[in-house]
Amino acid sequence: MPHALAAGTILRLILVAIAALAVYVLIVLAHPTKQCGKCKGHRVIVPAPGKRGRPKPCKRCKVTGRHYRFGATAIHRFKWSVINGRHHTRLDGK
Ligand SMILES: [Zn+2]
Repeated sequence: MPHALAAGTILRLILVAIAALAVYVLIVLAHPTKQCGKCKGHRVIVPAPGKRGRPKPCKRCKVTGRHYRFGATAIHRFKWSVINGRHHTRLDGK
């Protein structure tokens, strides 16, 4: 029965996707920020050795040295809405 087999495969893929998403959410909750890849957490862009110029403030992380992981803001907003007991999610907030 090819039909039943396909449905089972799709269901397994969905379960794997949900599991991967759950793991990612847990990682983001534990470590919402990661080191900025551009300045390596130094907050300034240091010119390569032998090149002229002085360190420039990193624009990518807004001189914080770290930046939020993908979805971290949304996940943490949801976490605090649950903690504060606000179970209604606002869809109008842009
Ligand atoms: Zn940076």
